[in-house]
Amino acid sequence: MFLHSIRWRLTLWLAFLLGCVLSGFGVTAYQLHRVNQFTQLDQELERRLTAVSADVRRGPPFGERMGRPPFEEGPGHPPPRHGPPDGMPFRGPPEGRPGPGPREIRLSAQTAGLFDEADTNGFYFATWSRESALLKSSTNAPPAVPHPERLGRDTRTHTRTRETFSEAYHFTELGDCVLVGRSIVADLHSIHRFAGWLIIAGSAVLALGVAGGWRLASNALRPVADISATASRISAGKLSERISVAETDNELGHLAGVLNSTFARLEAAFAQQEQFTADASHELRTPLAVLISEAQTTLARERTAGEYRETVEACLEAAQQMSRLTESLLQLARFDAGQENFARHPFDLAETTRACVEQIYALALQRGIRVECDLKPAPALGDANRIGQVVTNLLTNAIYYNHEHGEIRVATAVQDGQAILTVADTGIGIDTEDLPHVFERFYRADKSRARTQGRTGLGLAITKAIIEAQSGNIEVSSEHGKGSVFVVRIPSAPGACVPSPSLGAPT
Ligand code: ADP
Repeated sequence: MFLHSIRWRLTLWLAFLLGCVLSGFGVTAYQLHRVNQFTQLDQELERRLTAVSADVRRGPPFGERMGRPPFEEGPGHPPPRHGPPDGMPFRGPPEGRPGPGPREIRLSAQTAGLFDEADTNGFYFATWSRESALLKSSTNAPPAVPHPERLGRDTRTHTRTRETFSEAYHFTELGDCVLVGRSIVADLHSIHRFAGWLIIAGSAVLALGVAGGWRLASNALRPVADISATASRISAGKLSERISVAETDNELGHLAGVLNSTFARLEAAFAQQEQFTADASHELRTPLAVLISEAQTTLARERTAGEYRETVEACLEAAQQMSRLTESLLQLARFDAGQENFARHPFDLAETTRACVEQIYALALQRGIRVECDLKPAPALGDANRIGQVVTNLLTNAIYYNHEHGEIRVATAVQDGQAILTVADTGIGIDTEDLPHVFERFYRADKSRARTQGRTGLGLAITKAIIEAQSGNIEVSSEHGKGSVFVVRIPSAPGACVPSPSLGAPT
C-alpha cells in the first residue's frame, strides 16, 4: 500500500498542512474582501441617504408653496425648515387624524447628481410620506420597492438586503421614509470572481508546494534506497559492495559512512573466518595424511615388531599434533564466543615465570640454550594459570626459534603501575614485514621451519587473546638474525604479593 511509503506520508502530510494554511488564508481574504466591498457600499448608501433625507426634510421652499418665487438660499437667507423650531420637541399630528397631504419632493442638483437616472452607477432612491404614500422615486428604482416597516418612532438608519438589492433607509421626525438602494449583482460578481482567483491561486500554490515536497522527500530518501539496495547486494554475498552517497555532511551521509565501515569490518571478519577455516583444515590434513600413509605403508606387507613400533610412534606423534591443534582451535573458539572464564586474584608474576622457566629448562638444556633470569617481584592481578600458559608459550618459542647455544633472558618488574614480563632471545628474529602479523592465527614467519617442528601457528594468537582478556597488552620487537623481544604488561596488584595458587612456591 502506498501509504506505507515514507515519501508518500511526508508528501501527504505536507499537502494537508499546506491545504489548511491556504484554506485559512483564502477564507480570511475572501471574508475581508466581501466585508470591505459591502462596507464601502453601505457608506455610499448612507452618504446618499443623508443627502436625500436632508432634501426631504427641507421640503419645497415656503414661497413656492404659496405661489411665490422659490426661496433663495444664501448668506442671510437660511433654508426654510420643515420641522418645529429649534429646541421644541417634535409632535406629530394627533393619533387618528390624517397628516398633511402628499407633498412634492424636489432634490437639490447636488443630491440629484448622486443618483444616476441613466443608471450607470445604479443608485436609486424612494421616499414615502408618513401614510406610506410614495412621494418620489428615481426612475431607475426597481418596480414596487416595498415600503420598510417602521418600529415605533425609530429614526436610525437601517440596511436590508432584498433579492439582489442592498438598501438603506430611515424615517424622518415627521414620519416620512427615505430609502436609498443599489443592485449588488456587480458586487456579488466581483466577490465570486475574487473567490475564483483565490481558488486558482491557492490550488497553484498547493500543487507547487506538494510537487516541491515530493521532490524534497525523494531527494532526502534517495540515499535510503541506495543503502537498502547495497545492503541487499551485500546480504546476497557481494561483501565488497559499499554505499555511495554524494552528500556526506547530512545525517544519511553519516549513517552511510557508519554502515560502510561496518560492512568493511564484516567483510574482513568473513575473510578472516574463511582463511581460518581453510588454515584449520589444512593444518589438520597434514597429521591426518601422515597417519593414513604410515598405516597404509605398514599394512602393505608383513613388518617386523620394530617396524610396527616405528609406525605406531609416528602415528602417535601425528595424533598428538592433531590433539594440540584441535585443543588450540577449541580454545580460540571459546575466546571468540566469550565463553572462556578468567580468575582474578593477586599473584606474583616473578614466581609464575620462575615455575615456567623450570618447566622448559630441560628442553633449553637439550638445545644448548642458556636461560638467564632477572625476576624482580611483580605483584599482578589476574589468572595466574593463564598467564603461566602465556609465559610457557613465549619461552617455548624463544627456544624453538633460537640458534643452537643461543641465549634467553627472562625478566619481571613493575613499571608505571603494571607488572611486566620480558622474554628476549638471540634467535633467528622476525622480518619487519612479518612482525605485524605474528599474532594472527596460523601465521608463520618461517613456514618450512615451523611446520617441520610440528608448530600450530596458533600460540601467539592464543597468547594475545589471554593477555587482552586480562586488560593487558603484548608487544614484540625483533631484528632479523639477531633475536626477538616480547614484552607483556598486565595490571599490577600493589602490596599483594602472594605465591601463585597452582604453580606453587618458588624454588
Ligand atoms: P608457532 O606454533 O608457529 O610457533 P606462534 O603463534 O607461536 O606459532 O608464532 C607465530 C610465528 O611467529 C612463528 O611461526 C614464528 O615464525 C614467529 N615467532 C614467534 N616467536 C618467535 C621468536 N621468539 N623468534 C622468532 N620468530 C618467532
